[in-house]
Amino acid sequence: MGEYCYHIMTELKKHLRSYYLPVKFFFQKTIKRPFHIGNKYECPICGFHAKDLGYRGIYSEVTEKYQIIGMGQRKASCWKCNSTDKERLVFLYLRDVEKLFDGTFPEKILHLAPEKGIARHIIMNKNLNYVCGDYFAEGYSYPSYVKRMNALCLPFPTNQFDLLICNHVLEHIEDDRKAMSEFYRVLKKGGKAILQVPISPILPETIEDSNATLPSEKYLRFGQNDHVRIYGMDYKERLEKIGFRLEVFHFPDPVINKYGLNRREDIYICHKDL
Ligand SMILES: [Zn+2]
Repeated sequence: MGEYCYHIMTELKKHLRSYYLPVKFFFQKTIKRPFHIGNKYECPICGFHAKDLGYRGIYSEVTEKYQIIGMGQRKASCWKCNSTDKERLVFLYLRDVEKLFDGTFPEKILHLAPEKGIARHIIMNKNLNYVCGDYFAEGYSYPSYVKRMNALCLPFPTNQFDLLICNHVLEHIEDDRKAMSEFYRVLKKGGKAILQVPISPILPETIEDSNATLPSEKYLRFGQNDHVRIYGMDYKERLEKIGFRLEVFHFPDPVINKYGLNRREDIYICHKDL
């Protein structure tokens, strides 16, 4: 019964999204935010200092059962910019490891389903040649800098980008291997892709089920009504079969604690070698 109610609420929120989110964010900004100012967390994207984080994500028994990293209801949201733990993780990697905002050299970047907070920082850096694309799902609105794009057929020649960012998107795509191949194709040799997905550390193999086509079936099978699989520990191997060389990065505890990251989430950096 609990799961059924969550599903109904999720569908309702989706249909009322254009009304619901502005009201929610206004309420959060004007009423709630002052009560959460503190010194425990710092948001690297907007600079807000907080004593705690807001709830994000959807509860599901499947997410709990498979201990899926990057899904489920959890305290992860910045009270000011609404960034989540998975968005801050990628931003910090770009800022502190890739040194993307140091302005030392021009990079050509493709960002799919771009998070607004990350996109804003990249757009401000004029050295970076930045392209954003999304599928333009029904019921959602997109900023003008985002172009309609299909990950299965990217509108670019081969060997174009130094960096590709695709954060928690592949779990929505039926033919994820085709999307991975497209990512590999448009990257320059020597380029890299950051390809984050929700992943179960206790599943040796990814779960897929082509019979689960209805949103309610996907919710029961995969924990979210628009997901088409649960990635397991073979995710790395799936990418390697495309041709990528995988590097798994993990921030140290002080960074995780300061910025409110998910301590179980790694970053998958996929290299297209020379
Ligand atoms: Zn923030």
